[in-house]
Amino acid sequence: MILVSSCLLGTSCRYDGRSWPCREVLKLSRSSSFVPVCPEQLGGLSTPRPPARIVGGDGFDVLAGRAKVIRREDGVDVTEAFVRGAKECLKLVEIFGLEKALLKAKSPSCGLMRPVGVTAAALLLSGVEIREF
Ligand code: SF4
Repeated sequence: MILVSSCLLGTSCRYDGRSWPCREVLKLSRSSSFVPVCPEQLGGLSTPRPPARIVGGDGFDVLAGRAKVIRREDGVDVTEAFVRGAKECLKLVEIFGLEKALLKAKSPSCGLMRPVGVTAAALLLSGVEIREF
């Protein structure tokens, strides 16, 4: 079983209320069992929601309390929700014994690069292998 960013499958969970279906991921869904998640929704944020970004570091720093996640438009601190979402994903990793994740790129939760997202960082620290789309 593989953890997957829900928006890559076509669910409308993105901050702007849209999805980001990925043909390659949908193709993989025919041969693998997926556990779809949206960390930001699991963290209690609404959809749609104001876009947010990590300031002061990356997802590893957020988890360590050295950086924050703030809403782009008004600077409201949403760190707690992002960390909660990451922890909920880790629960599913443990429950299902997941070792792999397919995550959406360029997200403050799921992104793997520039900077590493909060959930991606939590998964990497838990030894989950991530592929980004
Ligand atoms: S990138 Fe991650 S947090 Fe953002 S909408 Fe997709 S699943 Fe949710």
